Amino acid sequence: MKTQSPDTQQDTCINPIESGALTVAGARNRILSTIQALAESEIIPLKESLGRILGESLCAPFDVPPWDNSAMDGYAVRSQDLPNAKQCRLTVVGTAMAGRPFNGEVLAGQCVRIMTGAMIPHDCDTIIMQEQAIREGDVITIGAGHSGGQHVRRAGGDLAAGHGVLSAGRHITPADLGVLASLGIAQVTVTRRPRIAFFSTGDELRPIDQALDAGAIYDSNRYALYGMLQQTGVEAVGLDIVPDNREALRLALTQAADADAVITTGGVSVGDADFVRDVLAELGEVHFWKVGVKPGRPFAFGRIGRAWFFGLPGNPVSTMVTYYQFVQPALRRLMGEDVHPPLQFKVTCVTALNKSPGRMEFQRGILETNAAGETVVRSSGGQASNILSSMSEANCFIVLPAEWGDVPAGTLVEVQPFPGL
Ligand code: AMP
Ligand code: MG
Repeated sequence: MKTQSPDTQQDTCINPIESGALTVAGARNRILSTIQALAESEIIPLKESLGRILGESLCAPFDVPPWDNSAMDGYAVRSQDLPNAKQCRLTVVGTAMAGRPFNGEVLAGQCVRIMTGAMIPHDCDTIIMQEQAIREGDVITIGAGHSGGQHVRRAGGDLAAGHGVLSAGRHITPADLGVLASLGIAQVTVTRRPRIAFFSTGDELRPIDQALDAGAIYDSNRYALYGMLQQTGVEAVGLDIVPDNREALRLALTQAADADAVITTGGVSVGDADFVRDVLAELGEVHFWKVGVKPGRPFAFGRIGRAWFFGLPGNPVSTMVTYYQFVQPALRRLMGEDVHPPLQFKVTCVTALNKSPGRMEFQRGILETNAAGETVVRSSGGQASNILSSMSEANCFIVLPAEWGDVPAGTLVEVQPFPGL
């Protein structure tokens, strides 16, 4: 009897309409269940850690703030002295500034002038805003209606000593830099940045510093890919353009295979000049190559030597769609980052969209706020997979399920804002 391996269970994610193709979620799950995080980490100065992945979980070594302090400019008082009705008069016996505490005693009927961020004097527990006190010389008058403990920022109110602050796998943000600095953490353990080698394939491609001859185009994928890799936070190693022949491809793939992953664009289809899949099968392994996605077909995932392999289609928008949907989550997993499904939500699409049933489509859209203050999406222009200008205009993908046909204006659609927005 045949037992079901985890791999064949994953194959239930087959696109129902196209034979042998995985669904987008099925392909992403296959990739994420195959790739493990790199084990190495390094210790770096806090200020260099933006965008890196935290390699250890951190607890607060002490309370933040470290002591009770004032949330307002005003007067620190004893709650026993607050008037129940009418008003009372208190004598100002000193001043507490941020960084300059008041260390004296505060007796019944006394108070301390205090500024925002200053330590609350020992005997006090309540702040009166200066706008709610009338001062004449050393005496203030305050009315009723105050509550004990008001306008005090408690010790540990932000981060409590011993509690978890940030977990391993966290992508470090500007706010995280501030949080770690508030704990006096000057160095952090982060995971190693993976080295990603990438090259474009195609006899028609020219580097951007050369004149174009008849039939040639500039290699735009290399630049879009470089940008996306930079945004993901990996070390991007750009190699030369590789012509459409098996020998050149063998050489390039063998040289690239000492990276943590290799990404190619073009030559992965079934045309007479498409050798990427054959050469990969010869030198490494092809895990799968059919995914029900548009644009973005075909897309190959496999392994060569110690490197993961991603063969992206050559059309510039297909390259970008497959990068965002499959490669970016894979590289995040490699870096040890917690990988969540992309942020996606429903909005009304104000333009009609053309679609044939069959594959899940990632159309290029512009999310914006209309005159009525509602968030809506519209198409950013031509949707053919070579139209890069409409990708550059777009700020989101409009995600259309495989079985949908044409979409009338006014339909509620799922959108995925682009990373980094
Ligand atoms: P391919 O996937 O190699 O069949 O290429 C599909 C289409 O994408 C063709 O029109 C190619 O000329 C174009 N293309 C392939 N690679 C690139 C690239 N690096 N930059 C711009 N266009 C490309
Ligand atoms: Mg080609």
